[in-house]
Amino acid sequence: MNLKELDKNYIANTYSRFPIEAESGHGSILIDKNGKEYIDLGSGIGVNAFGYSDKSWCDAAVSQLLKLQHTSNLYYTEPAVKLAKLLCENTGMKKVFFSNSGAEANECAIKAARKYAMEKKGDDYYTVITLKNSFHGRTLTTLAATGQDKFHELFNPLTPGFISVTAEDIEELKNAVKTQKPAAVMVECVQGEGGVIPLSKKYLQEVRKITEENDVLLIIDEVQTGNGRTGKLYAYMNYGIIPDIVSTAKGLGGGLPIGATLLGEKAENIFAFGDHGSTFGANPVCCSAAISVLERITDDFLTEVTKKSEFLFDFFSKCKGIKSVSGMGLMIGLETLRPAKEVIFEAMESGVLLLSAKDKVRLLPPLNIDFGLLEKAANIIAKICEKEN
Ligand SMILES: *Cc1c(COP(=O)(O)O)cnc(C)c1O
Repeated sequence: MNLKELDKNYIANTYSRFPIEAESGHGSILIDKNGKEYIDLGSGIGVNAFGYSDKSWCDAAVSQLLKLQHTSNLYYTEPAVKLAKLLCENTGMKKVFFSNSGAEANECAIKAARKYAMEKKGDDYYTVITLKNSFHGRTLTTLAATGQDKFHELFNPLTPGFISVTAEDIEELKNAVKTQKPAAVMVECVQGEGGVIPLSKKYLQEVRKITEENDVLLIIDEVQTGNGRTGKLYAYMNYGIIPDIVSTAKGLGGGLPIGATLLGEKAENIFAFGDHGSTFGANPVCCSAAISVLERITDDFLTEVTKKSEFLFDFFSKCKGIKSVSGMGLMIGLETLRPAKEVIFEAMESGVLLLSAKDKVRLLPPLNIDFGLLEKAANIIAKICEKEN
């Protein structure tokens, strides 16, 4: 049996895959079983921040793997402490809880907010307000947080205590904060799965003001936008606000599974012994890999990310087959005249890998992609978008 048939026989049917058998990669290039090369503008959904088999990232992970692969949270380990210190120093947050995925990072944020509100205001203050069209994960609680009904239908009852309001409608949020006894407001600065849609500065600053005034924690979900993706270390840094809790994952490990929940001043001492935990959390190999990722996201590096972003925005804005360009940094959504699905499929055939987000084409290239490769891929995409059906 070939791989495709074996996959069909043995792997749960949750994914519809492209007809590519990924075998190896280097830099921004993915190579399939037949030796065909692709410029990968999806980065494993924003995970491979420095592309495939990056030398210093591999060295960091492998040298730790050969020393100590895991020991549990019963003991102290240096990579976890170093990574937590680095995250705090670079953000001003105070403490970190490590997990293994974006959904778990959000679960921790929600637990922290609920405990904070319960202790401060009483146990009827548990509701978390999120935005319509958001995406926060696939566990039953983060599905409840996700403001899109299509994800909910088959899995009710979901965790209670979540409501969603319309992004950019500040009156609706104000009213919800006043009437719903919320523990927290949780938002993505740029809705990723929802169609690569940034919040306006005015709206998010207003959200910060209202949550501050009402002592409601503001959680920023930086699972997709974090770790340099938007041209700042974290997307909230583009907005001139300071959140109470930040969750992140995807790009943090550069390709190894890690989630982190950063707790700010109000939240740093919410958890006591036994309140939360994760067997795999703070895995030393994942933490070493994440340190190598974070140490390379310097101001100079972020300037390069922004330059590449400006090139893509400029280039695609002038492209005849593209109606609009949205996003921030190297997180870009293209509204194409042709159906996104067709564009993505033809790009794959032409050697460029793309993602979708709702009815848009989504780009999340490796942050260190060569300018030349980026230009080449952009030209291929433009040609496909301009083609007459
Ligand atoms: C991907 C994503 C998640 C879920 O992350 P997993 O690692 O798949 O659990 C949560 N929030 C946002 C904004 C995401 O993009």
